[in-house]
Amino acid sequence: QAKAKGRNTYHFYSQDLDAAANERLYIENELRTAIKMKQFTLYYQPQVNSETTEVVGYEALIRWFHPIEGAIPPSKFIPIAEATGLIVELGAWVLEEACHFSRRLKTAGKIGNVSINLSARQFKDAQLIKTLSDIIEKTKIEPTQLHLELTESMLMGDVEAAIAQLKHIKSLGVSLSIDDFGTGYSSLSYIKRFPVDILKIDRSFVKDIPEDPNDMEITAAIIAMAQKLNLQVIAEGVETEAQMAFLAKNNCYIVQGYYYSPPLCEADIFKFVPTI
Ligand code: C2E
Ligand code: MG
Ligand code: MG
Ligand code: MG
Repeated sequence: QAKAKGRNTYHFYSQDLDAAANERLYIENELRTAIKMKQFTLYYQPQVNSETTEVVGYEALIRWFHPIEGAIPPSKFIPIAEATGLIVELGAWVLEEACHFSRRLKTAGKIGNVSINLSARQFKDAQLIKTLSDIIEKTKIEPTQLHLELTESMLMGDVEAAIAQLKHIKSLGVSLSIDDFGTGYSSLSYIKRFPVDILKIDRSFVKDIPEDPNDMEITAAIIAMAQKLNLQVIAEGVETEAQMAFLAKNNCYIVQGYYYSPPLCEADIFKFVPTI
């Protein structure tokens, strides 16, 4: 009985897996074409100081507009690009494009840092430092205005190697953020050893404020810890005034989320974000 049921279950999942495997294969193939055909673009989400409402930075977020499928979200293709190694080429393109954006911002008289998401493979790539320094030189950006976002899971494992790579990046003058903070499995004792500058509180803690008292406690504790460790803190996924007010009351003033702005194409950034 159990065996028969097990077989059915297996059959059921195997069809599902086929569909998933086919989709992966399709995306993998389309990704190769997309890189050649330049179907990608970057959107930028403003990071705002809620006290002054000044835009202090922008997070670059990749967008793929496929000629047939339309927009394919990063959650669908970044993991595949990562698994196939295509992310190294795609990620280098993101770095260069975002640095050119940073240069154009400055030329237009706008202030603000530019944050870029790094993938695990990119972070571990021996070429990363050379790629980064070449791009910084070529685009003539201020390296201190470039922020790289990493996740906790990328730093765990070989912690000593991660610390060495973080130091290499920092030696270029670039700042480092831990993205999605609180969702990984890093231990607090390691956070202290990583030479990072910014913690980004994950949206999952912010989204149920002010209804969920646990999330409020956790968020307040992350902010307090960041302050103790001398780290800047940015809240992600801020969608309401109440969330913004709670964060400000607990000393987190830099926020990013739909409350202020969704990610925008570059033309809209130049249209809507005031020049200082
Ligand atoms: P992330 O780095 O944590 O980026 C924040 C995500 O939350 C973005 O999704 C953004 O559009 C979304 N978001 C921002 N504010 C709000 C809000 O108020 N409410 C809600 N519900 N969502 C909000 P997106 O653009 O779909 O990117 C998803 C993830 O894909 C990113 O998460 C990042 O991990 C990855 N990603 C995006 N662009 C790149 C890239 O160029 N390179 C790499 N390696 N990863 C990228
Ligand atoms: Mg990010
Ligand atoms: Mg994030
Ligand atoms: Mg997140």
